[in-house]
Amino acid sequence: MHAKPTYAILASVAVLGAMGSGAVLKIAAQGRTDGVTITFLANEGVMLSAGGRKVLIDALFLKYGPEYAVPADSTLVSLQRARIPFDSVDVILVTHRHGDHFHPVPMAAHLRANARATLLTSQQVIDSLRGQLSAEELRSPRIMSRTTAPGMRRRESIAGIAVELLGLPHAGTRHRIVEHLGYVVEIGGRRVLHVGDTDVTEANFAPFRLDTARIDVALFPNWVVTSEEGRRVIERWIRPRQVVAFHVGTADADRAIRDVRSAMPNAVTFARSLEMRRW
Ligand SMILES: [Zn+2]
Repeated sequence: MHAKPTYAILASVAVLGAMGSGAVLKIAAQGRTDGVTITFLANEGVMLSAGGRKVLIDALFLKYGPEYAVPADSTLVSLQRARIPFDSVDVILVTHRHGDHFHPVPMAAHLRANARATLLTSQQVIDSLRGQLSAEELRSPRIMSRTTAPGMRRRESIAGIAVELLGLPHAGTRHRIVEHLGYVVEIGGRRVLHVGDTDVTEANFAPFRLDTARIDVALFPNWVVTSEEGRRVIERWIRPRQVVAFHVGTADADRAIRDVRSAMPNAVTFARSLEMRRW
């Protein structure tokens, strides 16, 4: 009677010991390298998630105009109130202040509903929040002002997520005063590039040498992927494993998907709100 439980306990300890270290190693590895899930919202809005970490990029906006897409009302409410699946977001990134990428009302609502989130963006976007957040709230360390001039880059790390900010100008001369950023987010062992509304030209991208940065997934406005110059710059200066096209308008979604497919057959187009892909 006495011997039996002793053997049983010893055996359990041995099994636990063996499983314990293996399980810890496996969990640690999953957090780093298990891949990233990208959930599309509308325009250039996405959520990146991996191993319990979440990043929103250009995801908090409202209806901007008839030609611009917007998520369903129920999705907008979940985003604003930080409800599943948009709960526990760690990092919020905004490329620039234009209304198809950002609106101060849902942004302020999400920041209030989710104390865990850090906003990492330009001073211009932060200034646009003045009517919604108090001066004290805007001074919080959760609000990180990182205007980055064209051609410059900087790195931040938030909640174990590495974010590289790329100074990229907004496309078109009439938007020259708009502060604009691109981002490389490292999450789930993948590097995801979001270029916002910049022109994908050699002048803008050659300085960053992203072709040597092992970009796994690169997100571009669909007109970049369908333009010859855009494709040339992607192939020479960015070299991502996967190209994703987005920023598809409401009127021409089917045509945009077809055009992207014929221009770059391996590219994926995000056009349906809440569609999800894993890489
Ligand atoms: Zn814009």
